[in-house]
Amino acid sequence: MTTPSRLLADVHLSEQHPARTALFLQVLGNQAAASTAVYLLGDIFDIWLGDDDTRPLAVSVATGLRALTTRGVPVYWLAGNRDFLLGPQFGAQTGVQLLPDPVCLDLHGTPTWLSHGDQFCVDDPAYQAFRHKVRNPAWQQEFLAKPLAERQKIAQGYRADSQYEQTLKPEAILDVNRTAIDALWTQSPARRLIHGHTHRPALHVTTLADASMATRYVLPAWEATQGYALAVDTQRVWLETYTA
Ligand code: MN
Repeated sequence: MTTPSRLLADVHLSEQHPARTALFLQVLGNQAAASTAVYLLGDIFDIWLGDDDTRPLAVSVATGLRALTTRGVPVYWLAGNRDFLLGPQFGAQTGVQLLPDPVCLDLHGTPTWLSHGDQFCVDDPAYQAFRHKVRNPAWQQEFLAKPLAERQKIAQGYRADSQYEQTLKPEAILDVNRTAIDALWTQSPARRLIHGHTHRPALHVTTLADASMATRYVLPAWEATQGYALAVDTQRVWLETYTA
């Protein structure tokens, strides 16, 4: 048995859920600290408007992550659709390493794709149009150049926009598109994918056209007082549940 790595997504940390934040910090100090590596697969923050955000929530999470990396646990961050503005300054402050989405890496001997998952939800054109806009480096540069208060105002405006809000509601998130997933398998011999975003935790096993077997793990979203991580070692993959 080896020390597992742990993968988490969709924690949705916000001031509205202090118990969830406390649980997340507790997991960083305990299970995460006893991991080979920790992979944060997006939407860890319910919203992130720039690395100059110094609200207490941001500071306490950054402090917890810094403590973890200082202990020698590598922590990787792959952005979600809510915290995609997290950038190099946060990385330098915490020691967290930013990953592109999707990324294919060796996870305890098994080549594995990691992704937040929203890019596979191509059946939602309104969401994909929004994603295309805000993932544009020019848009991001312009947005981040605005004062934080103005960014907060713009984000509130987005939330007031019913169509935009609709695309972010957990119950309204469309599932991944099978063809979009299949395109991934053609890009590398890796036959394992781990992602979040859809709030539809599952293990999907499919046989591909080349007769190989592909497995797709979908991480659960954290609840008010309950959290989850997928633990992976050389032998096994299992879900851990944490309760506040
Ligand atoms: Mn998401």
